[in-house]
Amino acid sequence: LMIEPFSELPARLGWRKNFTQIIFDPDQPYVEFSLTPEFPWCSEKLAERGIVWSLRDLLASVCCPGAYQIVTCKCGYAPDAYLEERICVSHPDSGSVVWEIDTKGLAPALDDALEVIEGFIRLRFVRDEYEADIRAMLCEVQETARTQVSLAQMASAHGIEYLQAEYPECLSLPAEVFEPGERGCDLEDFVTMDCDGPCGRVALLRAGTLLEISLFDDELVCLNGKVDRGWIGRWFTRWSALAAYRAWVCHFSRPFGLGFDVRYVRLDIEEAGQNSFVLLPEKSLAACHTAGEHLAAVLQAQFDEGDTAPGVTVRYVRCIPPMAGKENLA
Ligand SMILES: [Zn+2]
Repeated sequence: LMIEPFSELPARLGWRKNFTQIIFDPDQPYVEFSLTPEFPWCSEKLAERGIVWSLRDLLASVCCPGAYQIVTCKCGYAPDAYLEERICVSHPDSGSVVWEIDTKGLAPALDDALEVIEGFIRLRFVRDEYEADIRAMLCEVQETARTQVSLAQMASAHGIEYLQAEYPECLSLPAEVFEPGERGCDLEDFVTMDCDGPCGRVALLRAGTLLEISLFDDELVCLNGKVDRGWIGRWFTRWSALAAYRAWVCHFSRPFGLGFDVRYVRLDIEEAGQNSFVLLPEKSLAACHTAGEHLAAVLQAQFDEGDTAPGVTVRYVRCIPPMAGKENLA
């Protein structure tokens, strides 16, 4: 159930503080900043591509394994920077943290040399160092929030010429926004965090949870018998789960999602909602089930690893989805 990476390296987390742009708020202009990631195999063009560390996701990944948008667009919306996957974070034992990074889905964040690689790279962190590096990042963010930023520090920020022309008396600015955008984690949230506080570890799912995977009409997951509307990928702690997921989902689609044209496909659309998953015409139901069962087995193995999610059961349920053509049953 384990797949070998293209490259495996010991790693530390690095960052560069980047003052990106000056916001000319009528009350008080301020300068935005972000943390540009540094890690083995990372692209040298992260600053110009507007790719930043998500400190919030880094902090979460210390406490709980799972898939995180650790590298994201500076606005907080990762697809904006063509980052289509999350980083799979596992805690295989109490002393280590492991990242598995999909080379295709996170290509803009990675070295161009990986562009031709189908698969993933693996980075191994010593837990104490991982935690210390993330705490140091948090401390630097807090320090930046407390002190004024000099013109020299923000020399490369967007809007510096305008500031110097229009506010000649201004010699420094407050740094007011960090990781803005849809996820709503701003500087104030970070400033109130305890840099030295203990970091509790939590399991990905509570012990006793039953996670069922299938084509439940228009959803893929049931948690303890109730349909779950979140994306299943948030529980992928290893790249092998992403691979197993892709091998399963290629069997079906939502009719409108893939532009299924019901005039050309022999699909009994009345029995299937517009949002229901439908088996693709060229795919067999048996192969779909086999792939789903494999995904369940991979996820079960990941939950059983270390303290990821002890006592959680994963099961594939053989539902029969609406089909686009009866030859699927062969
Ligand atoms: Zn963006």
